[in-house]
Amino acid sequence: MKKNKKGEKGGKGNQGKVIEVIPSREMVVVEGLNMRFKHVRPRREGEKGQRIEFPAPLHVSKVILICPRCSQTTRVGYQLLNSKEKGKKKIRICKKCKQAID
Ligand SMILES: [Zn+2]
Repeated sequence: MKKNKKGEKGGKGNQGKVIEVIPSREMVVVEGLNMRFKHVRPRREGEKGQRIEFPAPLHVSKVILICPRCSQTTRVGYQLLNSKEKGKKKIRICKKCKQAID
């Protein structure tokens, strides 16, 4: 599977855009993946109950990153950047093409 940060793509066989990241739970929500239905009861008389389809969160281990630079499925490496303006910063790099992902 794929996925990682908002805007990136992932999925096992499927690709989807990550639309939400829940870092505290290490979960991501990927568009079109892990679809669930939510049933909404009518709240007022005359209203109809609805079935709302929504993507349920997936654990990050279930998704894989597709590098936005080289378009390959990849793993993420980390590199420490040391810049004068920003100080030390950890950036994510694609292990295949070695480009910064963020
Ligand atoms: Zn890459």
